[in-house]
Amino acid sequence: MAENPFSFGGEHRYYGSRTAPDPAAASSGATGEIAALLKEYDPELERRVSRLFRQWNNVLRDQLRNEMGLRLSIGDETQAVPVRVVPGFPAPFQNAFEGIPPGLWRFLLRLPALEAAVKGLDSVMNIYSGIRSDAIPDQVPAFLPPSVADARAFCGHLFSVLQRIEVGQKLGGISEDVLGAYFFRVPEVHLYWMVIGLVAGVLGITAESLTVVVATHELAHAYSHLGRDIDGKKWETEAFARADLNIVEGIAQFYTEVVSRKLETRNPAVLPAYQKLTEIQQGPYRVHQEWAKQKSAGKDTPMPQAGEIVRATIVQCRSRQVSDYRVMQQIIESSAKQLAGSSITPERGAV
Ligand SMILES: [Zn+2]
Repeated sequence: MAENPFSFGGEHRYYGSRTAPDPAAASSGATGEIAALLKEYDPELERRVSRLFRQWNNVLRDQLRNEMGLRLSIGDETQAVPVRVVPGFPAPFQNAFEGIPPGLWRFLLRLPALEAAVKGLDSVMNIYSGIRSDAIPDQVPAFLPPSVADARAFCGHLFSVLQRIEVGQKLGGISEDVLGAYFFRVPEVHLYWMVIGLVAGVLGITAESLTVVVATHELAHAYSHLGRDIDGKKWETEAFARADLNIVEGIAQFYTEVVSRKLETRNPAVLPAYQKLTEIQQGPYRVHQEWAKQKSAGKDTPMPQAGEIVRATIVQCRSRQVSDYRVMQQIIESSAKQLAGSSITPERGAV
């Protein structure tokens, strides 16, 4: 049978390998250059990503276990899924950005700062434009030096040049995980601290909040694959590999969002980080936004039973070894009908 190019775990996926790659082997000249400039940008970056992951590891696993109703340990039997924070870039990331000279990242990392500088300088120039000189208080400079307008012009130009590189669009065009990876045949999760640092910098979010988002997403893959339901069943590995990207990534993204919302009071930066990342993502990373929706005041809103619907759908996808996304969509629809019909008092407003 020909391999489906849209399957999650075909041979063409780097994370489909039977052994997790040695991170030390993944250092080309360009990777070393970017590692050096990331260290200059934030000497603590790698340590922060590692520390943050250690702090949240058990919390994220607890949340996923509860929300998905799937467990990695039952009785004495434990399925270990270790997580490693590793350097380097996975191949799809490298391919998407090979045209970008490493030194350009030094500038791209400052995109949010540049945008803020342009807005800030505009705002300062606004104060002075049109104000009568006798209305300027003694405590502040009496006039605006022309260098401010020069700085505004320079920053504006630099910002627009950098915007034309379209980092967000390039990232969004990658349809495989590159911030982290779930090597499902090993099994092991890798978190790419350098990619996390670059993407957090470009999006203007903290590496900490992005680390939580990425770790949740990759661990959600592990739970959906190897987590046992009440019948002790899991997703047979080759059936999981054959499943369409939309199925597997959709499930991971659905639970990343659920967990980000659950963490809102404990770690309020996580949900906005998830939202910023999802905004630039496309295709399989967005399909979950269409699941279990209902029309409410002319708008599509999540059904109160969305969690139960998706959970029931996962159980069926596993037992029926579903690989076609259309089949999954039908299962979602029929689970939604069933649950909506059986619900006597729907919890309004619940997510
Ligand atoms: Zn994924």
